[in-house]
Amino acid sequence: MIIELASVQVSPKKIEEKFAPDEIHLEGEGRLIGQAAVSGKVFRDGDKVHVSGAISANVELACTRCLEPVEHHLDIAFDDVFVEAASETRDEETELSPDAMNESLVVGGKVDLAETVREQIILELPDPVLCSEDCKGLCPKCGENRNLIDCKCESDDIDPRWAALKNLN
Ligand SMILES: [Zn+2]
Ligand SMILES: [Zn+2]
Repeated sequence: MIIELASVQVSPKKIEEKFAPDEIHLEGEGRLIGQAAVSGKVFRDGDKVHVSGAISANVELACTRCLEPVEHHLDIAFDDVFVEAASETRDEETELSPDAMNESLVVGGKVDLAETVREQIILELPDPVLCSEDCKGLCPKCGENRNLIDCKCESDDIDPRWAALKNLN
C-alpha cells in the first residue's frame, strides 16, 4: 500500500492491511511467519502526516546462544510522522530537530506502508534472542548444542584469550 501524502486528509482514514512474508524483508534478522497484520489510521496534522496503529506479526529468529530457530510474537504500537520534503529548500541531508526524532522527511511524496512495517518490526526484535532463559548455547570447543548433548568437554578450561589476563593478577 502506497500512501500519497498530498492526498491525506485531516479526518483519519482507516488502514487494514496484511503483508505476506515475501513483502517484508528483515535483512537476515529473521523471517516473517505467516502474514503481518496492520490495523491503524492515516491522518494529517498541518504539514505532518501521521501513520499510526498496531502491527501483529510472528517472526522466526535464531537463538543468540545456540542458533536454533525461535518463534517470537510481536504486538507493536506505532506512530510514524512523515513530512513532505520541499525539494528546493531541503534535501535528504537536512538534519531533523531533536523534537522531530520520529519524523521522516519524504522526497517524492509517497510512503510505502510495507517499509514502515518492516522498520517497526526490526526495531522491536528482541536482543538477545533466547530459545529459553537457561539456554546452554553451543560448546565453544566442539560446537555441539549443549541443550541436546552433554559433550563432556572440559568446562573449566580457560580460553587462551583470557589466560593472558589471568596472569596479570
Ligand atoms: Zn538457544
Ligand atoms: Zn564440547
